[in-house]
Amino acid sequence: MILVIGGAGYIGSHLVKELVTTNEVVVLDDLSTGYRWAIDERATFMEGNLGNEADLDHIFSTYKIEAVVHFAANSLIGESVADPLKYYENNVSATLTLLKTMMKHHVKKVIFSSTAATYGIPTTDIITEDTSTHPITPYGRSKLVIEQILADFAHAYELEYVILRYFNAAGAYETAEIGERHDPETHLIPIILQHLLGEREHISVFGSDYDTEDGTCIRDYIHVTDLAHAHLLALQVLLDGKKKTATYNLGNGLGYSVKEVIKTCERVTGKKANVIMANRRAGDPARLVASSDKIYQELGWKAQFSLEQIIQSAWKWHQNSVKVTK
Ligand code: UDP
Repeated sequence: MILVIGGAGYIGSHLVKELVTTNEVVVLDDLSTGYRWAIDERATFMEGNLGNEADLDHIFSTYKIEAVVHFAANSLIGESVADPLKYYENNVSATLTLLKTMMKHHVKKVIFSSTAATYGIPTTDIITEDTSTHPITPYGRSKLVIEQILADFAHAYELEYVILRYFNAAGAYETAEIGERHDPETHLIPIILQHLLGEREHISVFGSDYDTEDGTCIRDYIHVTDLAHAHLLALQVLLDGKKKTATYNLGNGLGYSVKEVIKTCERVTGKKANVIMANRRAGDPARLVASSDKIYQELGWKAQFSLEQIIQSAWKWHQNSVKVTK
């Protein structure tokens, strides 16, 4: 049995859809940002919080958990600057409770969702796992602290882990049964597509004076299904005992500017966007592009979906989501 914490969330629900075809899965989620409809019905669902030791004790005593995949976190950079306590409580303190309870029940394998935000403002064009980590926001720091705690637990208590540092997750499940939904939505691709569906009047581009070719920020967009596949591989090597600890970037290795993303959305949907240039958003580095060579070399994982395909799947989802989320 695999425990997926945060399995009702965007990335977690995509992993669960794949994982249930080969494993028994229990999902723990407090539904604070995730959705009941997003959890595949083949998984067992427990509503609860990973910071609640009693909820965890119950799960670890009821099921024979072989490994934990831990997605649950708050992940808005701006919100983390305004309310760091929430981030240190929910992302750090609650995870510490999870790890403590795992150790108590002798569950010693975990996959942890980390982020490109651990790198801060990188000084290299392509970020490898060896690029130094200097997060510039409480969100990034909350994730890096847990990475360090995992390493300490591995050393002291024989915890085994894979840390996956996501770049910009986007896209939706191929059947459009599940996809990205945040409330409020802050991410670029869903915002563009909501606008093109007539749900928003315009798109604001946050900063057009960055030191990039067209002045807008460059990001590495990675399909959520590619992310799910990386988790499956990481889980397999942990379960097979082939890796004790590892940290991997997950990206496409390609950078696209905000303007290029808008153009691609226009091309995919055949609609024209109303775009407004706005001020920079706090905490946005000009360029974040991953090298994912390490996970390719070690686990054979490589992103399969292009930006165009990411947007096609997201567009299908956005058109379908009105029905699904009712
Ligand atoms: N962005 C934008 N307008 C929006 C939302 C996002 O210009 O309405 C920009 C944002 O400043 C960043 C890029 O799009 O440069 C990707 O932002 P997103 O929030 O999707 O992901 P992040 O990189 O912050 O994780």
